[in-house]
Amino acid sequence: STILETRHVCYRYADGTEALNDLNISIKKGSATAILGGNGAGKSTLLLTLNGILKPVSGQILRNGKPLDYSAKGLLELRKNVGMVFQSPDHQLFSASVYEDISFGPMNLGLPEKEVHERVRRIMEKTGVAPLKDKPTHWLSFGQKKRVAIAGVLVMQPEVLVLDEPTAGLDPVGTSEMMKLVKSLAEELGLTLVIATHDLDTVALYCDAGIVMSEGKAIFQGGIREMFADK
Ligand code: ADP
Ligand code: ADP
Repeated sequence: STILETRHVCYRYADGTEALNDLNISIKKGSATAILGGNGAGKSTLLLTLNGILKPVSGQILRNGKPLDYSAKGLLELRKNVGMVFQSPDHQLFSASVYEDISFGPMNLGLPEKEVHERVRRIMEKTGVAPLKDKPTHWLSFGQKKRVAIAGVLVMQPEVLVLDEPTAGLDPVGTSEMMKLVKSLAEELGLTLVIATHDLDTVALYCDAGIVMSEGKAIFQGGIREMFADK
């Protein structure tokens, strides 16, 4: 079934740039869907519209068949379910310690402290950052920061994990560790992955569907094999 779908979506920045131009895509539940395309193709803009940070000027986005609800309550629900990991972890980490950083989201949801603690403990284990729990986030390596950023999103128990260039800035070993971690988390937690990337090896090894964007449109969408055959 389809978990996210855009219908005739247009997005225009304040300066008039048409970043998304009649974009029609659909993302299957449980898939690992790669979003490809050159610089300026609209990938980041698409990711930001999928979790409601940006609102299309026209067209519609559906999650589980229902149009997105842009009320304050609807956006809270959307961002909990469509979790976004930005390219630079420094945009996402702000607290004193790893533990505090990861607990920020569930604390804000108003969950009981005991449940927050249990969720944070579990996700720290799964993402391999438990030994870092008392470290200030600015002490961490780039790869460790990325893991903490992912943990901070997954602790909200989303259905979809959106990753913007998850392997940018990582060496080949770091890339493979990161993608294996993301894939095993997705399998274990039943996540749908949406991954914007330039790294074709990552796409070939870890994704099962692809969308190629150009000038704010999808110029290809389908299976990964078909996509590579198309090129
Ligand atoms: P990608 O992620 O594929 O590189 P983007 O979604 O970042 O593409 O950008 C799509 C288009 O929108 C580009 O032409 C880009 O220059 C433009 N754009 C991106 N962000 C802004 C912004 N804040 N203001 C104006 N134009 C922007
Ligand atoms: P574990 O659950 O891994 O056995 P603890 O229950 O001792 O370990 O807690 C792990 C860490 O989490 C502690 O070192 C502490 O820093 C932090 N911690 C536990 N509960 C809270 C809380 N309510 N608020 C903030 N930090 C907490």
